[in-house]
Amino acid sequence: MPLYKEQGIVLRSVKLGEADKIVTILTQGSGKVRGVAKGIRRTQSKFGARLEPLMHVSLLMYQGRNLDTVTQAEIIVPFVRIRGTFDLIAAAETMLEAVDKVAEEHERNVRLFLLLLAGLRALEAGPNDPAAVAESFLLKLLSLSGFHPALSGCAVCGSREPLEWFSASQGGVLCRECAEHDAGRVSPPAIKWLDDLSRVDLLGAGDMTPDAEIRREARSLLYGFAEYHLERRMRSFSLLVRQPLPALTP
Ligand SMILES: [Zn+2]
Repeated sequence: MPLYKEQGIVLRSVKLGEADKIVTILTQGSGKVRGVAKGIRRTQSKFGARLEPLMHVSLLMYQGRNLDTVTQAEIIVPFVRIRGTFDLIAAAETMLEAVDKVAEEHERNVRLFLLLLAGLRALEAGPNDPAAVAESFLLKLLSLSGFHPALSGCAVCGSREPLEWFSASQGGVLCRECAEHDAGRVSPPAIKWLDDLSRVDLLGAGDMTPDAEIRREARSLLYGFAEYHLERRMRSFSLLVRQPLPALTP
C-alpha cells in the first residue's frame, strides 16, 4: 500500500466504533480524501484532537482500496479563535459543509483548497460580520464551481437594466423579458450587495454590512441559489441566520 504525505483541512470527523474515527479532509494536492484514524481512544496521544473539523494538518497516509488510513497528523494551524466563538464557528461550518459538497474525492483542486484556507484565515482574523465573510466565500465557491450567479447583467440576455427579477434555475438576476414563471421580484440594493460581496476580498467582506432588510433579502436569494446549485440542503445555513447582525458600519 503506497504511503503519501499531504496537508489538508479537516472537513468532517465521524466516530467509528469504540476507538476509531473516519475523517474527511480537503487536501492541497489530492482533493478530498476520506481516511480512518485508528486507536484514537487507546493512545494517550492527541492524535484524535488533531483530526477535529477545522484543523489544518500535515498528514502521513496509507492509500487503501476504499478508505485511506491516517497514520500521522501534525497541526499546522489550529484556528483557535474560530473554535472559541460561536458566530465564527457557524460561519466556518458553512464553509466546510459547502466545500465538502463540491470537492471531488482524489481530484486535485488547489484553488478550492486555497479558497478554504483564505476563508478560515479571514474568520480567524475576527471580522465584524462573520456571516458576511461566509456569504462572500459561498459566492466565490459557486464561481469556482461553475455556478456564478449573474448579478450585474441579465442571466439570459445580458441586458443591464432594469434587473428586478431573480431565479436560481435561470442563473441569477433577470430583465422583465427573460424572467420565467418561477422568477421572483428582487430589489436592486439586495442584488448590489451580493454583487459587492462576490467582488470584495474575504478579509474585507466582514466590514461592509448594509441595512438589515437588504441583508435579509440578499441572504435568502443567495441561500436559495446555493442550495439549488449544490443540490442539497445546507444544514449550517440555519445556524448562520441565527447570528445577530452587527451594527451598521459608517
Ligand atoms: Zn434578459
